[in-house]
Amino acid sequence: MGLITLTFHGNLVDFLPRDKIHSSLQVTFTHKTAVKHIIESLGVPHPEIGRIECNHQRVDLMYSIQDQDAIDVYPHNPGDQRFESLPPRLVLDNHLGKLTDYLRLLGFDAVYARDWTDDVIAQFTFDENRILLTRDRGLLKRKIVKIGHCVRADIPAEQLAEVITLFNLEPLITPFQRCPRCNGKLKPVDKDQIIEELLPLTRKYYDEFSRCQSCGQIYWKGTHFENMQKLFAPYTGNAKENL
Ligand SMILES: [Zn+2]
Repeated sequence: MGLITLTFHGNLVDFLPRDKIHSSLQVTFTHKTAVKHIIESLGVPHPEIGRIECNHQRVDLMYSIQDQDAIDVYPHNPGDQRFESLPPRLVLDNHLGKLTDYLRLLGFDAVYARDWTDDVIAQFTFDENRILLTRDRGLLKRKIVKIGHCVRADIPAEQLAEVITLFNLEPLITPFQRCPRCNGKLKPVDKDQIIEELLPLTRKYYDEFSRCQSCGQIYWKGTHFENMQKLFAPYTGNAKENL
């Protein structure tokens, strides 16, 4: 039997009940357990945690709690997380379709797990060593999910900003080289080769095209491209835009 005090910092309070966000929480326990289990039982998924300190000493998720411990839990700082593969690959749940499109358009390998079960998403994230982006806190608490994030923003453009900042993706952006429809790679294609597939006005007004190597979709620098270019301007800077 014992009592510990937990203080959550930064945006980790997003996971706490509204009446608990400004105070330290006191938790009683009957047997020793890993601090991870206490933290997750209060609503905070482990992939959101950047650092834990117990009595001002750094500890890991499996630290076994002791009576009277004072524990501080901090989120990741933007850019802190390191990835085995660069650029990192992602998987997104079925609430994040638009964000998936945007990440693909910025060149990231982003799998959209539409209609997948939680079991399949978690296993795929682990097997492929991907970042899991989700709105489902329960999914993020799965043990095999190592790197992930609960997307807080509701508007897709704000979700994009949130993810780019947290995972420091900006230097890794290669815009307009991946198909937003299927995640395939785009390759420039001669107009002559596809002219029969174009609608009359597209045929008349555009000369540069690219084609998805996976699904065959054809892209050109039309209105949609211009809108996306404006949306991505804060991140692309002088990045070369290949279409
Ligand atoms: Zn495609």
